[in-house]
Amino acid sequence: MATRKNTGDAPEERLEADRRRLELLAAQCGEEAGLHRPLNEIVGGVITGIPEDTDLAQALSDRETSDLLVHLLDQNREQVERALERLREGAYGICEGCGRRIPEARLKFQPAATRCVECQAHWDRLNGRTA
Ligand SMILES: [Zn+2]
Repeated sequence: MATRKNTGDAPEERLEADRRRLELLAAQCGEEAGLHRPLNEIVGGVITGIPEDTDLAQALSDRETSDLLVHLLDQNREQVERALERLREGAYGICEGCGRRIPEARLKFQPAATRCVECQAHWDRLNGRTA
């Protein structure tokens, strides 16, 4: 009998839940951009990379922003899937960049993280992302 971990806190469950949510959101965005709720409310905790001071309700009426949102959803889903892959490989929690352990606090906040803060910042710069 396995007593090593409380399953309620398992990263795999959180990641799977995030992935389902992202897929759902992406589908909604694709069909109809008529999301009139505040964006933070809709995507809170799932999407990263949206500047906090963005006027999201207004921004959503903007086609460009809808595209951006779909793009962000895609990116986040890719990230979640990547983290799940790492989990299956037994490499979850290990930074893809430097090979060191990703701090527990970061994984709690961002279960889909596959890089430590430094390596992620470096990678974002290289890829022209500001998130
Ligand atoms: Zn690193």
